[in-house]
Amino acid sequence: MSKTIPFNIPHIDGREYTYIKDTVKALKLSGNGIFTKKCQEFFQTRFGIKKALLTTSCTDALEMCAILLDITAGDEIIMPSYTFVSTALAFVRQGAKIVFIDSRSDHPGMNEDAIEKMITDKTKAIVTVHYAGVASDMDRILEIAERYNLYVVEDAAQGIDSYYYSKENIKKALGSIGHLAAFSFHETKNIQCGEGGLLAINDEKFIKRAEIIWEKGTNRAEFYRGEVNKYGWVDTGSSFLPSEITAAFLWAQLEKIDIIQKKRIKIWNKYLEGLSDWAITNNVQLPYIPEYATNNGHMFYMICPRANFRTKLIEYLKSKNINAVFHYLSLHSSDYYHDKHDGRMLIFTDKYTEQLLRLPLWYDMNESDISLVIKTINNFKFSD
Ligand SMILES: *Cc1c(COP(=O)(O)O)cnc(C)c1O
Repeated sequence: MSKTIPFNIPHIDGREYTYIKDTVKALKLSGNGIFTKKCQEFFQTRFGIKKALLTTSCTDALEMCAILLDITAGDEIIMPSYTFVSTALAFVRQGAKIVFIDSRSDHPGMNEDAIEKMITDKTKAIVTVHYAGVASDMDRILEIAERYNLYVVEDAAQGIDSYYYSKENIKKALGSIGHLAAFSFHETKNIQCGEGGLLAINDEKFIKRAEIIWEKGTNRAEFYRGEVNKYGWVDTGSSFLPSEITAAFLWAQLEKIDIIQKKRIKIWNKYLEGLSDWAITNNVQLPYIPEYATNNGHMFYMICPRANFRTKLIEYLKSKNINAVFHYLSLHSSDYYHDKHDGRMLIFTDKYTEQLLRLPLWYDMNESDISLVIKTINNFKFSD
């Protein structure tokens, strides 16, 4: 029996244990301690984010965005349908109506050309998702947002250490461009701590209130900086900050980000090289990276020529002990939202829902794992 190649194995550097031990020894276990600050400063310095706040997940960081933008019943939020539930969840909880936009034909990201005609008097924000860590066209989105006075939120869950080149050829980190952005450190992401996230604030006017919402609606952060002499309940909020144990784990990963990214991109490039001929022969679409975007090696996906091709390929790989998966059932046709959706057909979203396939991609994959996946796929012949 040959060994199984799982879809994902979270990478552990080893230093995680050391930093967790330091934290436990120091008996500093609740949030907003030394490691939390190190992680936040890392994002601010490396990615040019004005203020970073660690959260317990990207889902939570998005909830903070919805609160900060004062989203209320009847507001409309524009976002792609081809994304994870969390992108929509926070806004729906505030009572917003989600206006779903189709994916691009060349890429599963949101079709920027389809945004403007869906804007109404009630539109409050555009939430974009940098699918597979590949940037949305941010100049276009910012230009539309500015013209209609809308907020821009980046779901950068998959976008760590990936970049957008603006029209002026300025390199901007994903998550540093919109008014607000959210990152994920879920164990399936490039940099992980099991469950974790980060809110990125790029418009200074949100910083003070974000700290309050983060600290259960209190002005504790100001109190600790000596800016006020007592702290109390001043706003809405929740317990959005993770414990120092989580931050300590995360710090070990962030210290190794360059090594991790380099290895993931190497695996990604091996897939691209090893599968291009097969893809042409079989009419399979491989990932497209626009000129203004970079690749952070988060995900290697391919788009099969039809749904049945994908089903057969997954079964075939499974029979060879390789776990390939698909994801994202269009949110506009989900059980929860389809009767609230306005009925527009989103043809590319549906296409990716039925035809997109993700290959195993994790840091500790070795050369023989990668070659085996490539060789196996090259041997696949589709028949109905
Ligand atoms: C992973 C992911 C999320 C959710 O992240 P959590 O940290 O698990 O809450 C949200 N949006 C996208 C696009 C994701 O890939």
